Amino acid sequence: YHEWYEKHTPTSKQAAAEANEYIPGGVQHNLALNDPWALSITRAEGAYLHDADGNRYIDFLQAGGPTVLGSNHEAVRAAVLELLEHCGPVTGMLHPSETALAKLIHDFMPAVHKFRMLGSGTEAVMAAIRVARAHTGKQHIIKVGGAYHGWSDQVVFGLRIPGSGPLEAAGIPAPAYSGTSETAPGDLEALRARLTVNAENGGTAAVLLEPVGPESGTHPAPHDFNAAVRELCDEFGTLLVFDEVVTGFRLGMGGAQGYYGVAPDLTVFGKCVAGGYPAAGGVGGREEVMAAFAGGLTAAGQRALTGGTLAANPLSCTAGYHTLLEMDRLDAPAKAGAAGDRLRAGLEGLIAKYELPYVTYNFGSIVHLHTSGVLHLRLDDPEFFDKLTPRLKMLGHMSLAYAAEGVITLAGSRIYTSMADTDEVIDDALAAFER
Ligand code: PMP
Repeated sequence: YHEWYEKHTPTSKQAAAEANEYIPGGVQHNLALNDPWALSITRAEGAYLHDADGNRYIDFLQAGGPTVLGSNHEAVRAAVLELLEHCGPVTGMLHPSETALAKLIHDFMPAVHKFRMLGSGTEAVMAAIRVARAHTGKQHIIKVGGAYHGWSDQVVFGLRIPGSGPLEAAGIPAPAYSGTSETAPGDLEALRARLTVNAENGGTAAVLLEPVGPESGTHPAPHDFNAAVRELCDEFGTLLVFDEVVTGFRLGMGGAQGYYGVAPDLTVFGKCVAGGYPAAGGVGGREEVMAAFAGGLTAAGQRALTGGTLAANPLSCTAGYHTLLEMDRLDAPAKAGAAGDRLRAGLEGLIAKYELPYVTYNFGSIVHLHTSGVLHLRLDDPEFFDKLTPRLKMLGHMSLAYAAEGVITLAGSRIYTSMADTDEVIDDALAAFER
């Protein structure tokens, strides 16, 4: 496949060499493919990405998830351009689109009484933790292990194993973790045990989880898990926080909370909430919890601080509002989900046909394709890192091969479908996977 890159992507090669001089690793985002070099993507539309050398790729990255309508959707772009004509991207004052977006989210997710827009999912998680602590007066946070909740110090992606630090922990001081603990995916008894220990030691402000399972379903949550966690949280006076950065609106306009019929106290948003436009994050939930952001209403009469020069700007709120309206009007989550079902069924067929030791499953438009055995690694395996590294390399090889066959995935193991993925697109992708 390196030969394919040499032959077909010379402009990208040159651009990547220049990027390497000025950008660490030559890419701004760890999800970007950069082996053998990053592809220079200069056009994105619907189901496809186009690179600077004129190659076309089926886009199963969808920027990491925010674009269920497909890339660069026309109606959203038109609304943004109209806003820019009249107002520009940001004023620092209130714009009607902010209220319109918050109201629309409440219409789709009744548990989200009040909503605050922020700059990213990472910031929204930070705000949820802060407001949960402010509201409850409790200190501890429990997260379901293996989850990704952004890159802030206290929750950074941590595959914690005994005697070892988390992955990607350089630069994070250990005390940043002191208020956070993790329990194994899907393990209710471990969660109860941790809540019990914490109860004698300052209490637990919040349980934070990805409702389809950590890393958006890589370790799928048992179907009744969220409802059981809801009950546990009530028992311990702990807030339940759903991280719906991926599932929010992608799994359905009611998000995972609609899908599972479980109302969290707080919901964290990102990605779809601004439809792929920048400043995409927010936190929403019960009125009396969210009140702590407004000031004067915690027990101590203090305010839970959030900030962000570009938080809740007219551009992201206009993009988010029109994205959600269009997604609802066009039934985009269901269409993208049907594409995900078709793809998963096709991949299952290929796995059976070639007797591959692979596994595929999907939650609507969130499709998992595990081809490297990572899932079979146990966190308590003493050789965990020795085994993980070659497997991550293998995933890198897979994503490189898929791209050369014309399909861009998320790190070779996740696929986000969109409404733009017609049967023809999916069948073309399956032919590429088969090759
Ligand atoms: N939570 C989850 C479940 C995510 O998938 C992500 C991003 N991939 C985040 C939080 C962080 O969001 P952002 O990248 O907008 O900071």
